[in-house]
Amino acid sequence: IRPKIAKRDVTLHILKTFGIQMSKKLGQNFLVDEQVVDGIVAAAAVKPGEAVLEIGPGIGTLTQGLAEAGANVTAVELDRQLLDVLAKTLAGYDNVRIIHGDILRIDISREIRAEKFKVIANLPYYITTPIIMRLLEERLPVELMVTMVQKEVAERMVAAPGSKDYGALSVAVQFYTQPEIMFVVPPQAFIPAPAVESAVIRCRVRSAPPVSVTDEKAFFRVVKAAFAQRRKTLANALKGGGIAQEVVDAMLRQTGIDGGRRGETLTLAEFAALANAWTSRQ
Ligand code: SAM
Repeated sequence: IRPKIAKRDVTLHILKTFGIQMSKKLGQNFLVDEQVVDGIVAAAAVKPGEAVLEIGPGIGTLTQGLAEAGANVTAVELDRQLLDVLAKTLAGYDNVRIIHGDILRIDISREIRAEKFKVIANLPYYITTPIIMRLLEERLPVELMVTMVQKEVAERMVAAPGSKDYGALSVAVQFYTQPEIMFVVPPQAFIPAPAVESAVIRCRVRSAPPVSVTDEKAFFRVVKAAFAQRRKTLANALKGGGIAQEVVDAMLRQTGIDGGRRGETLTLAEFAALANAWTSRQ
């Protein structure tokens, strides 16, 4: 039986043995709570032989949990100094492959050839949104994402129209997935303890969007414009987003949506209606 890495004393011992200076810039906060690792593995319902992409394995804490569950893990780590550590802490798990690289740059479909895979990660918080957006927009064969993010970001991902947390991230995540906050994780579950609370969020990727959209690019342009200037009315925000006044007026007329509303009150269906009206006039 191998010692669990997800323990304070084991983690401190590994960091000391390898002389690791943890990098704040790279969002390094390592998990030291076994229950949280188990909770993530359970939330993802990892089954033996399943392909899993892990982002930022660190010293291998969550990777170990995934490997023990029998997953076929491909883990991408940017910090070169952790490669030697991972080779040691995960030695003997032949179902783990570590790749040195930047998750925002590597060719993911070349690294994971599986027909479908799950993304499971304790994300580096400084690039949470770009990572999630890349995974969703590239239409990779991801079936499920179970990720640790800042609690405040998790709340934005699940936010409903009209709430203060509702924004372009909520619309994008809900367009592509069904997000669900699984549990909240306190700062003490990490070394070093981050300044904020965290949450594990599970996003089931949809096989088709929940609303019908003629042109996805147009849909996201409308969404971005609507949220770019939150204090403006919808009509003014759309005009500010580069859509001509007469086109905006026609879009609003055609959909029956009141241009005096704020963008943040619109549902996905209303954004889709506006975008489809716009596309139909181009
Ligand atoms: N999985 C470990 C755990 O749960 O304890 C570490 C998680 S830590 C929050 C985030 C990890 O992502 C760090 O190991 C960091 O070096 C790595 N990382 C940061 N930026 C990255 C990037 N662009 N691509 C891949 N890994 C990155």
